[in-house]
Amino acid sequence: MENIKALDQTYVAPTYGRFDVVLTEGKGCIAYGEDGREYIDMGSGIGVNLFGYCDEVWKEAVITQLNSLQHTSNLYYTGPCAELARELCERTGLKKVFFCNSGAEANETAIKAARRYGELNKGPEFYTIITLKNSFHGRTLTTLAATGQDKFHQLFQPLTPGFVSVEANNIEALKAAVKENNVCAIMLECIQGEGGVNVLTQDFIDAVKEIAKQEDLLILDDEVQTGNGRTGALYAYMHYGFTPDVVTTAKGLGGGLPIGAVMLGEKTADLFHPGDNGSTFGGNPAVCAGALANLKRLDETRMNEVNRKSQLIFETLNEKPNVRSISGKGLMIGIEPEKGTAVDIAKKCLTKGVLVLTAGGNRVRLLPPLNISEENLKKALDVILAAFEDEGKE
Ligand SMILES: *Cc1c(COP(=O)(O)O)cnc(C)c1O
Repeated sequence: MENIKALDQTYVAPTYGRFDVVLTEGKGCIAYGEDGREYIDMGSGIGVNLFGYCDEVWKEAVITQLNSLQHTSNLYYTGPCAELARELCERTGLKKVFFCNSGAEANETAIKAARRYGELNKGPEFYTIITLKNSFHGRTLTTLAATGQDKFHQLFQPLTPGFVSVEANNIEALKAAVKENNVCAIMLECIQGEGGVNVLTQDFIDAVKEIAKQEDLLILDDEVQTGNGRTGALYAYMHYGFTPDVVTTAKGLGGGLPIGAVMLGEKTADLFHPGDNGSTFGGNPAVCAGALANLKRLDETRMNEVNRKSQLIFETLNEKPNVRSISGKGLMIGIEPEKGTAVDIAKKCLTKGVLVLTAGGNRVRLLPPLNISEENLKKALDVILAAFEDEGKE
């Protein structure tokens, strides 16, 4: 067999720091390496393979659709796109859905909605969106501008104007920023993923709600990572008892195929008209058929299962050697070491057959498939704990 690693290093643009492993196959939560080794995947890609590798129910839905119609342009109606939109609206109470291909693209649309809303309801100078420090909203120039982390801003100046970031969970900072700028919206992740698995407090969300109401601002909720059952609720906002004006999601929704969705509420459902926005691949029937099949499986029983496994993770990791803190909800977990780096711990886990992710703030991040067996979960946690302990001794 050709040397895949050498081929990649010669021809693929080197934008990723890859781990030293070539994956060739997978089943459930297990990935198989070219070297014949097995890995328990505690990352699901990055929160994408919602039911693991090659899940039968999802595969069946996608393949059935591939056998009838793989794509048509958005000039025509297709069933899976309409049915998925209905399922998303009925399950969330939001009113309309725009489909695209990725999280960044979904957030671009949310930002467009906020700008339309500001212009129509407050005036053309009201285009500023308040975002949070340590957020992550994507890699396009505009979603980089929305991302509240300076390290993402440096290489590609000038970024899109109209974004101001404030510290998460800091109500006074939020109030001040709203006062000082002509604001149309507040954009947030209920649990910041890339930024370090930081959970927003109920008090902060309550303040966001209050300020948004007083100042007539939209709440844009980025559920690209937290969405689709990941945190033990269908969408993470449901833990907090509010309904955002725009909810974006992607990652887990497609179960492994690219999709982005923008759900629009009462105030935003009528902002877009024919020609105002679009996407060639958006609403692809095969992707939507798979997403619909997965979404229908995210019922109360499944959420209870996610929350049970979450509890198992928290209990297993609690007060263990070299574990300073554990954060997150459901199967979205951040673990901070006392000593050493999350990246070194991830490398140690890899050599012992467990794939984990890292996040900002020196966190090891876990986003396992929702249907991971307790047996594999326990095995993976044993390896992770050993890696933490080992790192602490160096
Ligand atoms: C991954 C992620 C994005 C970007 O999604 P892409 O599909 O990579 O464009 C945006 N927001 C959040 C919260 C994410 O986790």
